[in-house]
Amino acid sequence: MTVRVAVVGGGITGLTVAFTLLEARPDLEVNVIEADQRVGGKVRTGRFAGHQVDAGADAFLARVPEGIDLCRRLGLADELVTPAVRSAYLYSRGALRPFPGGLVLGVPTDLDALARSGVISPEGITRAALDLTMGPDQPGTPDESVGALVRRRLGDEIYDVLVGPLLSGVNAGNADHLSVAAGTPQFAAALEQHGSLIAGARAQRQASVATGAPVFFGLPGGTQTLTDTLAERILAAGGRIQTGTTVDAIATAGGTGYGVTTRSRSSGVEVVGALETDVVIVTTPMFVTGRLLAPFAPGAAREMSELEYASAVMVVLAIAREEIDHPLDASGFLVSGSEPLVLTACSWASSKWAHLADDRVAILRASAGRHHDRRALEMGDEELVEVLLDDLATTMGVRGRPEEVRVTRWDRSLPQFRPGHLERVQRWHQELQEKAPGLFATGAGFEGLGLPACIRQARATAEQALDLPLLRSSATPPA
Ligand SMILES: Cc1cc2nc3c(=O)[nH]c(=O)nc-3n(C[C@H](O)[C@H](O)[C@H](O)COP(=O)(O)OP(=O)(O)OC[C@H]3O[C@@H](n4cnc5c(N)ncnc54)[C@H](O)[C@@H]3O)c2cc1C
Repeated sequence: MTVRVAVVGGGITGLTVAFTLLEARPDLEVNVIEADQRVGGKVRTGRFAGHQVDAGADAFLARVPEGIDLCRRLGLADELVTPAVRSAYLYSRGALRPFPGGLVLGVPTDLDALARSGVISPEGITRAALDLTMGPDQPGTPDESVGALVRRRLGDEIYDVLVGPLLSGVNAGNADHLSVAAGTPQFAAALEQHGSLIAGARAQRQASVATGAPVFFGLPGGTQTLTDTLAERILAAGGRIQTGTTVDAIATAGGTGYGVTTRSRSSGVEVVGALETDVVIVTTPMFVTGRLLAPFAPGAAREMSELEYASAVMVVLAIAREEIDHPLDASGFLVSGSEPLVLTACSWASSKWAHLADDRVAILRASAGRHHDRRALEMGDEELVEVLLDDLATTMGVRGRPEEVRVTRWDRSLPQFRPGHLERVQRWHQELQEKAPGLFATGAGFEGLGLPACIRQARATAEQALDLPLLRSSATPPA
Protein backbone atom coordinates (compact mmCIF):
# COMPACT_ATOMS: atom_id res chain seq x y z
CA MET A 1 0.00 0.00 0.00
CA THR A 2 1.33 3.44 -0.94
CA VAL A 3 1.12 5.99 1.84
CA ARG A 4 -0.07 9.42 0.65
CA VAL A 5 1.23 12.66 2.16
CA ALA A 6 -0.17 16.10 1.29
CA VAL A 7 2.07 19.06 2.09
CA VAL A 8 0.12 22.34 2.17
CA GLY A 9 2.30 25.32 1.16
CA GLY A 10 5.38 25.30 -1.04
CA GLY A 11 7.66 27.75 0.76
CA ILE A 12 11.06 26.71 2.09
CA THR A 13 9.32 24.80 4.91
CA GLY A 14 6.89 22.81 2.76
CA LEU A 15 9.50 22.02 0.12
CA THR A 16 12.00 20.85 2.75
CA VAL A 17 9.34 18.64 4.35
CA ALA A 18 8.54 17.04 0.97
CA PHE A 19 12.21 16.63 0.02
CA THR A 20 13.09 15.08 3.40
CA LEU A 21 10.18 12.62 3.17
CA LEU A 22 11.12 11.51 -0.33
CA GLU A 23 14.80 11.30 0.51
CA ALA A 24 13.97 8.83 3.30
CA ARG A 25 11.06 7.08 1.60
CA PRO A 26 10.98 7.32 -2.21
CA ASP A 27 7.95 5.01 -2.15
CA LEU A 28 5.71 7.68 -0.57
CA GLU A 29 3.19 9.56 -2.69
CA VAL A 30 4.05 13.15 -1.77
CA ASN A 31 1.93 16.00 -3.08
CA VAL A 32 2.86 19.66 -2.42
CA ILE A 33 -0.11 21.99 -2.83
CA GLU A 34 0.78 25.65 -3.31
CA ALA A 35 -1.69 28.52 -3.72
CA ASP A 36 0.66 30.77 -5.65
CA GLN A 37 1.64 30.23 -9.29
CA ARG A 38 5.21 29.59 -8.15
CA VAL A 39 6.88 27.76 -5.28
CA GLY A 40 9.28 29.45 -2.87
CA GLY A 41 6.84 31.52 -0.80
CA LYS A 42 8.81 34.34 0.78
CA VAL A 43 11.96 33.24 -0.99
CA ARG A 44 12.05 35.01 -4.33
CA THR A 45 14.88 36.05 -6.64
CA GLY A 46 14.54 37.88 -9.94
CA ARG A 47 16.60 39.38 -12.73
CA PHE A 48 17.41 42.98 -11.93
CA ALA A 49 19.95 45.32 -13.56
CA GLY A 50 21.61 42.30 -15.14
CA HIS A 51 21.98 40.39 -11.87
CA GLN A 52 20.01 37.83 -9.86
CA VAL A 53 18.73 39.95 -6.95
CA ASP A 54 16.67 38.70 -4.01
CA ALA A 55 13.33 40.30 -3.23
CA GLY A 56 13.24 38.73 0.23
CA ALA A 57 15.81 36.72 2.18
CA ASP A 58 19.32 37.17 0.74
CA ALA A 59 21.34 35.36 3.41
CA PHE A 60 20.96 32.77 6.10
CA LEU A 61 22.63 32.26 9.44
CA ALA A 62 25.55 29.84 9.42
CA ARG A 63 25.18 29.14 13.15
CA VAL A 64 22.03 27.02 12.71
CA PRO A 65 23.56 23.98 10.94
CA GLU A 66 20.43 22.75 9.16
CA GLY A 67 20.74 25.44 6.45
CA ILE A 68 24.20 24.38 5.34
CA ASP A 69 23.30 20.74 5.78
CA LEU A 70 20.37 21.10 3.37
CA CYS A 71 22.66 22.84 0.85
CA ARG A 72 25.03 19.89 1.15
CA ARG A 73 22.25 17.39 0.56
CA LEU A 74 21.14 19.35 -2.50
CA GLY A 75 24.67 19.57 -3.89
CA LEU A 76 24.77 23.36 -3.38
CA ALA A 77 27.41 23.53 -0.63
CA ASP A 78 30.21 24.46 -3.06
CA GLU A 79 28.19 27.41 -4.31
CA LEU A 80 27.76 29.04 -0.88
CA VAL A 81 29.30 32.49 -0.57
CA THR A 82 29.82 34.84 2.37
CA PRO A 83 29.26 38.59 2.36
CA ALA A 84 32.19 40.56 0.94
CA VAL A 85 31.99 43.05 3.82
CA ARG A 86 31.01 42.53 7.43
CA SER A 87 30.65 46.09 8.68
CA ALA A 88 27.39 48.01 8.67
CA TYR A 89 26.07 51.43 9.62
CA LEU A 90 23.24 52.60 11.82
CA TYR A 91 21.30 55.74 10.95
CA SER A 92 20.55 57.41 14.23
CA ARG A 93 20.37 60.97 15.51
CA GLY A 94 20.40 62.24 11.94
CA ALA A 95 23.59 60.58 10.68
CA LEU A 96 25.02 57.29 9.45
CA ARG A 97 27.26 55.93 12.20
CA PRO A 98 29.43 52.82 11.86
CA PHE A 99 28.10 49.97 13.98
CA PRO A 100 30.87 49.51 16.55
CA GLY A 101 32.89 46.32 16.12
CA GLY A 102 32.62 43.39 18.51
CA LEU A 103 28.83 43.32 18.85
CA VAL A 104 26.93 40.05 19.10
CA LEU A 105 23.30 40.81 18.23
CA GLY A 106 23.96 44.30 19.56
CA VAL A 107 25.48 43.13 22.85
CA PRO A 108 28.96 44.63 23.26
CA THR A 109 31.95 42.38 23.90
CA ASP A 110 34.49 45.22 24.25
CA LEU A 111 33.24 48.11 26.36
CA ASP A 112 36.44 50.17 25.86
CA ALA A 113 36.10 49.97 22.08
CA LEU A 114 32.42 50.84 22.40
CA ALA A 115 33.30 53.87 24.53
CA ARG A 116 35.85 55.00 21.93
CA SER A 117 33.28 54.68 19.13
CA GLY A 118 31.27 57.48 20.75
CA VAL A 119 27.99 55.72 19.90
CA ILE A 120 27.11 55.18 23.58
CA SER A 121 27.48 57.84 26.27
CA PRO A 122 29.94 57.30 29.18
CA GLU A 123 26.92 56.80 31.50
CA GLY A 124 25.56 54.19 29.11
CA ILE A 125 28.87 52.31 29.18
CA THR A 126 29.00 52.39 33.00
CA ARG A 127 25.43 51.11 33.12
CA ALA A 128 26.17 48.29 30.65
CA ALA A 129 29.20 47.18 32.69
CA LEU A 130 26.85 46.38 35.61
CA ASP A 131 25.82 43.28 33.67
CA LEU A 132 29.23 41.79 34.45
CA THR A 133 28.84 42.19 38.19
CA MET A 134 25.12 41.99 38.96
CA GLY A 135 25.21 38.19 39.07
CA PRO A 136 23.13 35.65 37.19
CA ASP A 137 19.33 35.76 37.00
CA GLN A 138 17.25 33.54 39.28
CA PRO A 139 17.13 30.03 37.84
CA GLY A 140 13.82 29.26 36.13
CA THR A 141 13.12 32.93 35.22
CA PRO A 142 10.12 32.73 32.84
CA ASP A 143 10.50 33.78 29.21
CA GLU A 144 10.46 37.56 28.91
CA SER A 145 10.86 40.13 26.15
CA VAL A 146 14.26 40.97 24.69
CA GLY A 147 13.62 44.61 25.62
CA ALA A 148 12.90 43.76 29.27
CA LEU A 149 15.97 41.53 29.53
CA VAL A 150 18.44 43.84 27.79
CA ARG A 151 17.17 46.99 29.52
CA ARG A 152 17.46 45.19 32.90
CA ARG A 153 20.95 43.81 32.28
CA LEU A 154 22.61 46.45 30.06
CA GLY A 155 20.46 49.56 30.42
CA ASP A 156 18.12 51.50 28.14
CA GLU A 157 20.81 53.09 26.00
CA ILE A 158 22.37 49.82 24.78
CA TYR A 159 18.89 48.56 24.01
CA ASP A 160 17.67 51.72 22.26
CA VAL A 161 20.83 52.34 20.21
CA LEU A 162 22.15 48.85 19.45
CA VAL A 163 20.07 45.78 20.31
CA GLY A 164 16.62 47.20 19.49
CA PRO A 165 17.46 48.51 15.98
CA LEU A 166 19.39 45.34 15.09
CA LEU A 167 16.60 42.98 16.06
CA SER A 168 13.86 45.20 14.66
CA GLY A 169 15.79 45.11 11.39
CA VAL A 170 15.55 41.32 11.37
CA ASN A 171 11.84 40.86 12.03
CA ALA A 172 10.36 44.32 11.42
CA GLY A 173 9.01 44.17 14.94
CA ASN A 174 9.57 45.76 18.27
CA ALA A 175 12.06 43.79 20.36
CA ASP A 176 10.36 45.21 23.46
CA HIS A 177 7.72 42.55 22.73
CA LEU A 178 9.92 39.83 21.22
CA SER A 179 10.28 36.58 23.18
CA VAL A 180 13.85 35.89 24.27
CA ALA A 181 13.35 32.11 23.99
CA ALA A 182 11.96 32.33 20.45
CA GLY A 183 13.86 35.34 19.11
CA THR A 184 17.26 35.39 20.81
CA PRO A 185 17.80 32.05 22.55
CA GLN A 186 21.53 32.88 22.66
CA PHE A 187 20.74 35.59 25.25
CA ALA A 188 19.06 33.02 27.50
CA ALA A 189 22.02 30.64 26.98
CA ALA A 190 24.51 33.44 27.77
CA LEU A 191 22.82 34.10 31.09
CA GLU A 192 22.48 30.45 31.95
CA GLN A 193 26.07 29.52 31.07
CA HIS A 194 27.95 32.73 31.89
CA GLY A 195 25.68 34.65 34.26
CA SER A 196 26.02 37.76 32.06
CA LEU A 197 25.00 38.84 28.57
CA ILE A 198 28.40 40.45 27.92
CA ALA A 199 30.36 37.41 29.11
CA GLY A 200 28.15 35.13 26.99
CA ALA A 201 28.60 37.35 23.93
CA ARG A 202 32.38 37.34 24.48
CA ALA A 203 32.44 33.54 24.63
CA GLN A 204 30.35 33.30 21.49
CA ARG A 205 32.56 35.76 19.64
CA GLN A 206 35.74 34.04 20.73
CA ALA A 207 34.41 30.72 19.52
CA SER A 208 33.50 32.13 16.10
CA VAL A 209 36.80 34.05 15.76
CA ALA A 210 38.73 30.90 16.75
CA THR A 211 37.04 28.78 14.11
CA GLY A 212 36.96 31.63 11.57
CA ALA A 213 33.42 30.50 10.86
CA PRO A 214 31.32 32.84 8.72
CA VAL A 215 28.18 34.35 10.20
CA PHE A 216 26.05 34.33 7.05
CA PHE A 217 25.88 32.48 3.78
CA GLY A 218 24.25 33.39 0.50
CA LEU A 219 23.95 31.87 -2.96
CA PRO A 220 25.24 33.65 -6.08
CA GLY A 221 22.11 32.72 -8.03
CA GLY A 222 20.01 34.15 -5.18
CA THR A 223 18.26 32.39 -2.34
CA GLN A 224 15.66 31.04 -4.72
CA THR A 225 18.33 28.61 -5.95
CA LEU A 226 17.56 26.73 -2.77
CA THR A 227 13.79 26.47 -3.28
CA ASP A 228 14.13 25.87 -7.05
CA THR A 229 16.58 23.03 -6.42
CA LEU A 230 14.31 21.56 -3.76
CA ALA A 231 11.40 21.61 -6.22
CA GLU A 232 13.53 19.96 -8.93
CA ARG A 233 14.61 17.24 -6.54
CA ILE A 234 11.05 16.60 -5.33
CA LEU A 235 9.85 16.18 -8.91
CA ALA A 236 12.85 14.01 -9.80
CA ALA A 237 12.03 11.76 -6.83
CA GLY A 238 8.47 11.27 -8.10
CA GLY A 239 6.76 13.87 -5.89
CA ARG A 240 4.02 16.14 -7.23
CA ILE A 241 3.83 19.92 -6.95
CA GLN A 242 0.49 21.56 -7.70
CA THR A 243 0.89 25.33 -7.98
CA GLY A 244 -2.04 27.72 -8.36
CA THR A 245 -4.02 25.48 -6.00
CA THR A 246 -5.37 26.79 -2.70
CA VAL A 247 -6.29 24.44 0.12
CA ASP A 248 -9.63 25.64 1.48
CA ALA A 249 -10.41 22.98 4.06
CA ILE A 250 -9.18 19.78 5.67
CA ALA A 251 -11.59 17.19 7.08
CA THR A 252 -11.39 13.64 8.33
CA ALA A 253 -12.09 11.01 5.71
CA GLY A 254 -12.55 7.29 5.98
CA GLY A 255 -10.83 5.82 9.05
CA THR A 256 -7.54 7.54 9.75
CA GLY A 257 -7.24 9.54 6.53
CA TYR A 258 -7.97 13.15 5.63
CA GLY A 259 -9.87 14.85 2.84
CA VAL A 260 -8.37 18.06 1.46
CA THR A 261 -10.57 20.49 -0.46
CA THR A 262 -8.72 22.59 -3.02
CA ARG A 263 -9.55 25.47 -5.31
CA SER A 264 -7.78 26.33 -8.53
CA ARG A 265 -8.53 28.09 -11.82
CA SER A 266 -8.57 26.46 -15.18
CA SER A 267 -9.18 28.61 -18.30
CA GLY A 268 -10.55 31.35 -16.05
CA VAL A 269 -13.03 29.00 -14.35
CA GLU A 270 -12.79 28.15 -10.67
CA VAL A 271 -12.37 24.42 -10.08
CA VAL A 272 -13.01 22.83 -6.71
CA GLY A 273 -11.05 19.66 -6.12
CA ALA A 274 -10.88 16.99 -3.45
CA LEU A 275 -7.94 14.86 -2.46
CA GLU A 276 -7.73 11.95 -0.07
CA THR A 277 -4.55 11.48 1.84
CA ASP A 278 -3.17 9.60 4.84
CA VAL A 279 -1.02 12.38 6.26
CA VAL A 280 -1.31 16.19 5.98
CA ILE A 281 1.52 18.61 6.81
CA VAL A 282 0.41 22.24 6.86
CA THR A 283 3.19 24.83 6.35
CA THR A 284 1.19 27.97 5.56
CA PRO A 285 1.35 31.29 7.46
CA MET A 286 -0.39 31.03 10.84
CA PHE A 287 -3.50 32.99 9.84
CA VAL A 288 -4.14 30.27 7.22
CA THR A 289 -2.92 27.36 9.35
CA GLY A 290 -5.22 28.38 12.22
CA ARG A 291 -8.23 28.38 9.89
CA LEU A 292 -7.36 24.99 8.37
CA LEU A 293 -6.82 23.34 11.75
CA ALA A 294 -9.85 24.84 13.53
CA PRO A 295 -12.04 21.72 13.07
CA PHE A 296 -9.41 19.53 14.74
CA ALA A 297 -7.68 21.57 17.43
CA PRO A 298 -9.86 24.64 18.10
CA GLY A 299 -7.83 25.90 21.07
CA ALA A 300 -4.51 25.79 19.25
CA ALA A 301 -6.10 27.07 16.03
CA ARG A 302 -7.49 30.16 17.77
CA GLU A 303 -4.10 31.04 19.24
CA MET A 304 -2.40 30.41 15.90
CA SER A 305 -4.82 32.77 14.15
CA GLU A 306 -4.10 35.42 16.77
CA LEU A 307 -0.35 35.45 16.11
CA GLU A 308 0.52 38.92 14.88
CA TYR A 309 2.49 39.56 11.70
CA ALA A 310 4.43 42.59 10.52
CA SER A 311 4.39 43.61 6.87
CA ALA A 312 7.33 44.80 4.83
CA VAL A 313 8.04 46.21 1.39
CA MET A 314 11.34 45.62 -0.39
CA VAL A 315 12.23 48.20 -3.03
CA VAL A 316 15.27 47.35 -5.10
CA LEU A 317 16.89 50.24 -6.94
CA ALA A 318 19.75 50.52 -9.44
CA ILE A 319 21.30 53.97 -9.18
CA ALA A 320 24.40 55.26 -10.99
CA ARG A 321 27.26 55.23 -8.50
CA GLU A 322 28.26 58.79 -9.37
CA GLU A 323 24.83 59.89 -8.14
CA ILE A 324 25.52 58.68 -4.60
CA ASP A 325 27.62 60.71 -2.17
CA HIS A 326 28.84 57.73 -0.18
CA PRO A 327 31.62 55.17 -0.74
CA LEU A 328 29.18 52.32 0.08
CA ASP A 329 31.93 50.69 2.11
CA ALA A 330 29.75 48.32 4.17
CA SER A 331 26.86 45.92 3.76
CA GLY A 332 24.36 48.73 4.32
CA PHE A 333 22.59 50.35 7.23
CA LEU A 334 19.68 50.03 9.61
CA VAL A 335 17.49 52.95 10.62
CA SER A 336 16.91 53.42 14.32
CA GLY A 337 13.20 53.17 15.20
CA SER A 338 13.24 56.68 16.65
CA GLU A 339 14.00 58.30 13.25
CA PRO A 340 11.02 59.85 11.43
CA LEU A 341 11.63 57.92 8.19
CA VAL A 342 9.62 55.39 6.19
CA LEU A 343 12.88 53.62 5.26
CA THR A 344 13.81 50.98 7.87
CA ALA A 345 17.01 49.60 6.33
CA CYS A 346 19.03 49.70 3.15
CA SER A 347 21.23 46.84 2.06
CA TRP A 348 24.01 47.89 -0.32
CA ALA A 349 23.65 44.65 -2.23
CA SER A 350 26.36 45.43 -4.79
CA SER A 351 28.85 46.03 -1.95
CA LYS A 352 27.60 43.21 0.27
CA TRP A 353 27.89 40.44 -2.32
CA ALA A 354 30.83 40.03 -4.71
CA HIS A 355 28.50 38.42 -7.27
CA LEU A 356 26.38 41.60 -7.38
CA ALA A 357 29.33 44.00 -7.73
CA ASP A 358 28.75 46.38 -10.61
CA ASP A 359 31.12 49.07 -11.93
CA ARG A 360 28.41 51.44 -12.99
CA VAL A 361 25.36 51.17 -10.76
CA ALA A 362 24.82 50.54 -7.09
CA ILE A 363 22.13 47.98 -6.34
CA LEU A 364 20.27 49.04 -3.19
CA ARG A 365 17.66 46.97 -1.36
CA ALA A 366 15.58 49.49 0.58
CA SER A 367 13.17 48.10 3.17
CA ALA A 368 10.12 49.76 4.67
CA GLY A 369 7.40 48.69 7.09
CA ARG A 370 7.47 47.80 10.74
CA HIS A 371 4.97 46.16 13.04
CA HIS A 372 2.12 48.70 13.56
CA ASP A 373 3.57 50.96 10.85
CA ARG A 374 1.74 50.27 7.60
CA ARG A 375 2.51 53.62 5.94
CA ALA A 376 4.64 51.98 3.25
CA LEU A 377 2.05 49.26 2.59
CA GLU A 378 -0.67 51.85 2.13
CA MET A 379 1.23 53.93 -0.44
CA GLY A 380 1.09 53.18 -4.15
CA ASP A 381 4.36 52.06 -5.75
CA GLU A 382 5.18 55.46 -7.26
CA GLU A 383 4.57 57.38 -4.05
CA LEU A 384 6.54 54.85 -2.02
CA VAL A 385 9.54 55.03 -4.36
CA GLU A 386 9.54 58.85 -4.13
CA VAL A 387 9.34 58.76 -0.33
CA LEU A 388 12.16 56.20 -0.14
CA LEU A 389 14.31 58.24 -2.56
CA ASP A 390 13.87 61.22 -0.21
CA ASP A 391 14.88 59.04 2.74
CA LEU A 392 17.89 57.69 0.79
CA ALA A 393 18.91 61.26 -0.04
CA THR A 394 18.71 62.20 3.66
CA THR A 395 20.52 59.15 4.98
CA MET A 396 23.17 58.26 2.38
CA GLY A 397 23.33 61.07 -0.12
CA VAL A 398 21.47 59.55 -3.07
CA ARG A 399 21.04 62.38 -5.59
CA GLY A 400 20.01 60.68 -8.82
CA ARG A 401 16.99 58.86 -10.16
CA PRO A 402 16.98 55.07 -10.26
CA GLU A 403 17.59 53.43 -13.64
CA GLU A 404 15.55 50.43 -12.58
CA VAL A 405 13.16 49.84 -9.67
CA ARG A 406 11.40 46.75 -8.38
CA VAL A 407 8.81 46.87 -5.60
CA THR A 408 7.89 43.66 -3.75
CA ARG A 409 5.19 43.79 -1.09
CA TRP A 410 5.38 41.25 1.70
CA ASP A 411 2.04 41.72 3.44
CA ARG A 412 1.73 39.97 6.84
CA SER A 413 5.02 38.19 6.29
CA LEU A 414 7.00 38.40 9.52
CA PRO A 415 5.54 36.60 12.58
CA GLN A 416 5.95 38.41 15.89
CA PHE A 417 6.88 36.09 18.75
CA ARG A 418 5.64 37.31 22.13
CA PRO A 419 7.09 36.01 25.41
CA GLY A 420 5.84 32.48 26.10
CA HIS A 421 5.57 31.72 22.35
CA LEU A 422 7.55 28.46 22.44
CA GLU A 423 5.44 27.12 25.30
CA ARG A 424 2.31 27.86 23.29
CA VAL A 425 3.86 26.08 20.28
CA GLN A 426 4.44 23.00 22.42
CA ARG A 427 0.79 23.07 23.48
CA TRP A 428 -0.36 23.41 19.85
CA HIS A 429 1.68 20.41 18.77
CA GLN A 430 0.34 18.40 21.70
CA GLU A 431 -3.30 19.27 21.02
CA LEU A 432 -2.88 18.41 17.36
CA GLN A 433 -1.14 15.15 18.07
CA GLU A 434 -3.88 14.09 20.50
CA LYS A 435 -6.82 15.13 18.38
CA ALA A 436 -5.61 14.54 14.83
CA PRO A 437 -2.82 12.00 14.50
CA GLY A 438 -1.27 12.26 11.05
CA LEU A 439 -2.02 15.98 10.80
CA PHE A 440 0.99 18.25 11.42
CA ALA A 441 1.66 21.96 11.24
CA THR A 442 4.97 23.78 11.06
CA GLY A 443 6.69 26.78 9.43
CA ALA A 444 8.05 30.23 10.15
CA GLY A 445 5.35 31.08 12.71
CA PHE A 446 6.29 28.17 14.94
CA GLU A 447 9.89 28.00 16.07
CA GLY A 448 11.74 30.70 14.16
CA LEU A 449 11.32 32.58 10.92
CA GLY A 450 14.89 32.48 9.53
CA LEU A 451 15.51 30.07 6.67
CA PRO A 452 17.66 27.63 8.72
CA ALA A 453 15.01 27.62 11.48
CA CYS A 454 12.32 26.81 8.89
CA ILE A 455 14.53 24.02 7.49
CA ARG A 456 15.15 22.63 10.98
CA GLN A 457 11.44 22.54 11.80
CA ALA A 458 10.62 21.03 8.42
CA ARG A 459 13.08 18.22 8.98
CA ALA A 460 11.82 17.55 12.49
CA THR A 461 8.22 17.42 11.27
CA ALA A 462 9.10 15.12 8.37
CA GLU A 463 10.86 12.83 10.84
CA GLN A 464 7.79 12.78 13.11
CA ALA A 465 5.63 11.87 10.14
CA LEU A 466 8.05 9.08 9.14
CA ASP A 467 7.64 7.75 12.66
CA LEU A 468 3.84 7.38 12.41
CA PRO A 469 2.77 3.73 12.82
CA LEU A 470 1.27 3.79 9.30
CA LEU A 471 4.56 4.86 7.78
CA ARG A 472 6.67 2.54 9.88
CA SER A 473 4.50 -0.46 9.07
CA SER A 474 4.59 0.34 5.34
CA ALA A 475 8.38 0.72 5.19
CA THR A 476 10.20 -1.89 3.15
CA PRO A 477 12.40 -3.86 5.52
CA PRO A 478 16.11 -3.44 4.72
CA ALA A 479 17.37 -6.21 2.39
C1 LIG B 1 11.38 40.83 3.29
C2 LIG B 1 11.88 39.59 4.00
C3 LIG B 1 13.24 39.40 4.17
C4 LIG B 1 13.73 38.25 4.80
N1 LIG B 1 15.07 38.07 4.93
C5 LIG B 1 15.54 36.93 5.48
C6 LIG B 1 16.93 36.67 5.49
O1 LIG B 1 17.75 37.46 4.99
N2 LIG B 1 17.36 35.49 6.05
C7 LIG B 1 16.48 34.57 6.55
O2 LIG B 1 16.94 33.53 7.04
N3 LIG B 1 15.14 34.79 6.54
C8 LIG B 1 14.66 35.93 6.01
N4 LIG B 1 13.30 36.15 5.95
C9 LIG B 1 12.38 35.16 6.53
C10 LIG B 1 12.13 33.96 5.63
O3 LIG B 1 12.25 34.30 4.27
C11 LIG B 1 10.71 33.40 5.87
O4 LIG B 1 10.42 33.33 7.24
C12 LIG B 1 10.58 32.00 5.25
O5 LIG B 1 10.90 32.06 3.87
C13 LIG B 1 9.18 31.47 5.49
O6 LIG B 1 9.08 30.20 4.89
P1 LIG B 1 7.79 29.27 5.08
O7 LIG B 1 7.90 28.17 4.10
O8 LIG B 1 7.63 28.89 6.51
O9 LIG B 1 6.56 30.21 4.74
P2 LIG B 1 6.16 30.87 3.34
O10 LIG B 1 7.34 31.24 2.56
O11 LIG B 1 5.16 31.92 3.70
O12 LIG B 1 5.43 29.68 2.57
C14 LIG B 1 4.09 29.34 2.80
C15 LIG B 1 3.46 29.02 1.47
O13 LIG B 1 2.10 28.64 1.69
C16 LIG B 1 1.35 29.11 0.59
N5 LIG B 1 -0.08 29.14 0.98
C17 LIG B 1 -0.70 30.04 1.79
N6 LIG B 1 -1.99 29.69 1.94
C18 LIG B 1 -2.18 28.55 1.23
C19 LIG B 1 -3.31 27.69 1.04
N7 LIG B 1 -4.51 27.94 1.59
N8 LIG B 1 -3.15 26.60 0.24
C20 LIG B 1 -1.94 26.31 -0.32
N9 LIG B 1 -0.85 27.10 -0.15
C21 LIG B 1 -0.97 28.19 0.63
C22 LIG B 1 1.93 30.48 0.31
O14 LIG B 1 1.62 30.92 -1.00
C23 LIG B 1 3.42 30.22 0.52
O15 LIG B 1 4.07 29.87 -0.68
C24 LIG B 1 12.80 37.29 5.30
C25 LIG B 1 11.43 37.49 5.14
C26 LIG B 1 10.96 38.62 4.48
C27 LIG B 1 9.48 38.80 4.28
